[in-house]
Amino acid sequence: MHDVIIIGAGPAGLSTAFWCDELGLDTLVLEQSDRIGGQLHRVYNPIENYLGVKTRNGVEFLERFAGDIESAEFDLWTQTEITSVDLKAKRISLASGESLQSIAIVIASGVRPRELGVPGEKEFAGKGMIESGARDREQFAGHDVCVVGGGDAAVENALLLAEVCPTVTLVHRRKKLRARREFVERLQALHCITVFTESVLTRIMGDETVQAVEISRKAGIKPFQLAVRGVLIRIGVEPNTQLFGEQLETDEKGFITVSGTQETSVPMVFAVGDVSNPLAPTLSGAAGAGATAAKVIATRLNAGK
Ligand SMILES: Cc1cc2nc3c(=O)[nH]c(=O)nc-3n(C[C@H](O)[C@H](O)[C@H](O)COP(=O)(O)OP(=O)(O)OC[C@H]3O[C@@H](n4cnc5c(N)ncnc54)[C@H](O)[C@@H]3O)c2cc1C
Repeated sequence: MHDVIIIGAGPAGLSTAFWCDELGLDTLVLEQSDRIGGQLHRVYNPIENYLGVKTRNGVEFLERFAGDIESAEFDLWTQTEITSVDLKAKRISLASGESLQSIAIVIASGVRPRELGVPGEKEFAGKGMIESGARDREQFAGHDVCVVGGGDAAVENALLLAEVCPTVTLVHRRKKLRARREFVERLQALHCITVFTESVLTRIMGDETVQAVEISRKAGIKPFQLAVRGVLIRIGVEPNTQLFGEQLETDEKGFITVSGTQETSVPMVFAVGDVSNPLAPTLSGAAGAGATAAKVIATRLNAGK
């Protein structure tokens, strides 16, 4: 029996575990991947907005945690596959056959990039699909590319790629871009970027690598093809909540609903970080939510003694 089991070892889960340990709680963190850090492994841009810490990328940010994590006394199991969770009973079953029990559960399972779901998207992974403008742009320098999406991440990546690519085509399904004004103004000033709004990318084509995309502008009008060598998709994220089914209250997109103390609709089940924060997913938010959940759990457990 543990005091707390935390699902996910990204920034939110690690912050929760760090605080639980500081507050003397018996804590176990379960991580499905073979490494801790979550999305930090996909952050290739400098992190300059976490008060007091500036790093060149996500991995360097994670390295700052290392000393504190190593000296903390919580248990951390990586490569651990959870097969089912009974949130009410606080019981977790693992693929290994083990069954775990705790007094509180903290869900810190984060988000995954939303997929477009078009032919070619999976087939060309690593063969023309661009994971990050910051990381991959040298590889695509001198080639025409296409970016899908209209938010900050899509437009920021289009701007980065425009520094090295002859043309960048941005495809967005809505009428207006949702990205912050500063990005949109910079984009509008660049002649090498073409924006197709109210348009969708319907197919990615090629042989060994990406050679073209198919874009559909309006229902009833024939889609057209555009020759490009790279495609970057940034159409938002989805919460990792598949494990919990109908056990919890969520918003219409599946993000877990929490109170001001990070508690979910199930007593003594908390959710922290991006999985419960669709509007403001940040490292500061993840760290703060973890601290809040840990303190609330410790207060409840001490009150019960
Ligand atoms: C390209 C990029 C740039 C960014 N730049 C910034 C920035 O400059 N500043 C900033 O503040 N934020 C930035 N962010 C956002 C920041 O990285 C996230 O807000 C933060 O990582 C959220 O942490 P999290 O722990 O909630 O989720 P995640 O980082 O998503 O971690 C979730 C963890 O849970 C694990 N998990 C999921 N499901 C299960 C399961 N069933 N069982 C066990 N483990 C599970 C995952 O493997 C993962 O390790 C950026 C994100 C990206 C992608």
